Amino acid sequence: MTNRLIAHVDMDAFYASVEQHDHPELRGRPVIVGGTRRRGVVCAASYEARVFGVRSAMPMYEAHRRCRDGIFLPVRMARYREVSSEVFRCFAEFTPLIEGLSLDEAFLDLTGTPASSDALALGRGIKACILSRTGLIASVGLGTNKLLAKLASERSKPDGLLHIPMEHAATILDPLPVTAIWGIGPRSGAHLEQAGIRTVRELRLAPEPLLAALFGNQARFFKSLAEGRDERPVGGDTCERSISHETTFERDLSDWHPLVRELRPLTEGLCRSLRRHDLRPHTLVLKLRTADFRRHTRQRRFAPADNTFAVLWPLAETLLRDWLREQPGLPLRLIGVAARDFASTGQLPLFGDAYAREQRLESAVDTVRERYGATAITRGMPARME
Ligand SMILES: [Mg+2]
Repeated sequence: MTNRLIAHVDMDAFYASVEQHDHPELRGRPVIVGGTRRRGVVCAASYEARVFGVRSAMPMYEAHRRCRDGIFLPVRMARYREVSSEVFRCFAEFTPLIEGLSLDEAFLDLTGTPASSDALALGRGIKACILSRTGLIASVGLGTNKLLAKLASERSKPDGLLHIPMEHAATILDPLPVTAIWGIGPRSGAHLEQAGIRTVRELRLAPEPLLAALFGNQARFFKSLAEGRDERPVGGDTCERSISHETTFERDLSDWHPLVRELRPLTEGLCRSLRRHDLRPHTLVLKLRTADFRRHTRQRRFAPADNTFAVLWPLAETLLRDWLREQPGLPLRLIGVAARDFASTGQLPLFGDAYAREQRLESAVDTVRERYGATAITRGMPARME
């Protein structure tokens, strides 16, 4: 896992910027997007509105109070989704290894991609692609791992571009509060504070027995984060290597017919990928993401291993039918189908020697772009260390 290159891309004031882009007369003005009901909250504030102290998640009445001349707009989720798919299509031009965190934020694993020796040039390329396709500004942070990439985009916002090399990690991380680390949430932060550990430096230098008492077997994980080391893989939510095809919808779907219509071509694509790489899986996984961004999976193991549509499609259909029976009417924003537990002698795509890997990446990206747009292929990796 050494010498990786990871990018964290985050659109600046996303919903508000989409509104300013679609309505040029709003550019340069304080735009606040949020719930229009009395108890609504701010979903996004343009930088012009932030000057007045307006922030995301603030009650709308408070935003009105702070920014009397603000332009208050309702949320147009369908439009933001549309722009988001464009943004993710840009990502797919750089790598198939994408982990979307929300509509406007993702990690990209750029390791081994062309020009990965020049991190900043790649970052500029991503920003330029997004700007030309959507007219919007993204901030891009780069580093050898997710922790540094995320920190880099946060520190360089807005219109940011920053690469944090490993050798600078300690200098930058040390003075920060522990909760500045992606992976240390408010709860862990409170635990640490009770033990007198507030800054990353204090965490880095904390005696291991103390950390072990606080976090048990996670102690080493936290300590390595404090040292700027982070082996969490991009898209690393699966337990093993896998191949998957997935698609994000323009509008949330919750009914059998439209969902089956999406799932069928994904399963066909999956079977094609499996055959191309001579892989026969023992397990089929249905991946779902609900409108609140929670991921769900349902899986079925079968024998003998197989990669034909005739075998995999009935399984995929059954998994979907069972899900809908369990969770009727739940709005979904993504559906995918993945295969794992391979029995074949074939080579896993996206692994192996650098040249062959690059070839495979390219054909993978072509497939993705031709058929599905956005984040259609991900590589599964060993379970994260948390
Ligand atoms: Mg953002």
